[in-house]
Amino acid sequence: MATDVLCEVDSCTYWASGNRCDAAKIYVVNSRNTDEASNSEETDCKTFEKKEDDVIS
Ligand code: SF4
Repeated sequence: MATDVLCEVDSCTYWASGNRCDAAKIYVVNSRNTDEASNSEETDCKTFEKKEDDVIS
């Protein structure tokens, strides 16, 4: 089981500084372009949630 997930997708609400994932668990799926991934580019993180844009006040 992975205990440390590194991720560079800083537009995700679970992303934390140092390229860390703060989600309690993640769900990785085959990308929508394939039914059976052959390489990492054909996988997607389904746990991704778009981070709300920072509001400049
Ligand atoms: S939930 Fe997925 S996309 Fe979001 S920070 Fe974690 S690994 Fe990255």
